[in-house]
Amino acid sequence: MNYIPIGRARQIGSMLFTLHWFDSIGDASGRAYPYRMETYDGEAQLTAEEPEESEEPEAGEPLPLPVAELHLHIEGTLEPELIFALAERNGIELPYKDLEELRSRYEFTDLQSFLDLYYANMAVLQTEQDFADMTRAYLARAALAGVRHAEIMLDPQAHLSRGVSLETCVNGVASVLAGSREEFGISTLLIAAFLRDLTEESALEVLEQLLAMDAPIAGIGLDSAEVGNPPAKFERLFARAKDAGLHRIAHAGEEGPPSYIIDALDILEVERIDHGIRCMEDPELVERLVDELMPLTVCPLSNVRLRAVDTLAEHPLPAMLAAGLNVCVNSDDPAYFGGYVDDNFAQLQSVIGLSEFDCVRMAANSIRSSFASEERKAELLAELAASGH
Ligand SMILES: [Zn+2]
Repeated sequence: MNYIPIGRARQIGSMLFTLHWFDSIGDASGRAYPYRMETYDGEAQLTAEEPEESEEPEAGEPLPLPVAELHLHIEGTLEPELIFALAERNGIELPYKDLEELRSRYEFTDLQSFLDLYYANMAVLQTEQDFADMTRAYLARAALAGVRHAEIMLDPQAHLSRGVSLETCVNGVASVLAGSREEFGISTLLIAAFLRDLTEESALEVLEQLLAMDAPIAGIGLDSAEVGNPPAKFERLFARAKDAGLHRIAHAGEEGPPSYIIDALDILEVERIDHGIRCMEDPELVERLVDELMPLTVCPLSNVRLRAVDTLAEHPLPAMLAAGLNVCVNSDDPAYFGGYVDDNFAQLQSVIGLSEFDCVRMAANSIRSSFASEERKAELLAELAASGH
């Protein structure tokens, strides 16, 4: 099965930024929100400006698998080009002299070394327009990757701690998500994720503010540094979210032990586990997860970049599939980890020989495990069935 070749997808992504971000960003800053970035509506532009020698898909080559992306941090979609463009727009001096120097920092030794760069780069996000532009850039790229439904995490505390208001970050992202189906063909939901290395009091305070402002969030998540911050620390937060009728998900079993997955299920009553790869160390837990059809949102390229696994060839995904677990493929923080959903699928196929059957199965898993309406799920499953994969 073929996807858009990685080289071509990168080329398109790069064109989106070089042709559109730098051309349009100057006059974008003064526009009233919400606004549409006209230069982004572009099949026609992409086609017209695509270089002749690009890796054109062969006639009849199937489009990417239609999938739901369920594990995506919007701040992790901030590409180096956009970081520079936003820094220029906001008059922020970056500690890197050029793109090359910034890119050279993307070799991580562990989760913390990534988080240090991740939080530092967020400094360029200052206005609603910045958050809107970042979101629009993700959706444009995700559409090329076959994403048809996305449940997007936003880390409000990471912005509040920098003096950016809740309204600025939430409204900036939500303004674009509100029109994502029409603009990009992607239905979307927003999830407020909380930083587990901060206190539960801080998370509760922010959740109450989100509820008070009637923020358009579908659920809450739990992310950032896992080890030493077990699920039990956030029992009251998740109980409050449940009372408020919100969906609940949590990162567990990425770097943390299998017991964190069990506690996320039993104490936080989550409906999905983000990552969850370390469940494979506990056969009883695997059996339970299979019985409960519990979704695990696996992020293969992220796991390799953050050294949760040494190489993609050693990734437990094939074993997880063989065990009957409800797994799907996601990009996590694609700007930092070497690729979007299509890149993850392409590398799984080329490196570990993932079969077309398994790819389609995981695409179906992603749709069924989403919080989309039953009607939307049926529509996407029909699209998957008709996709020629
Ligand atoms: Zn994540």
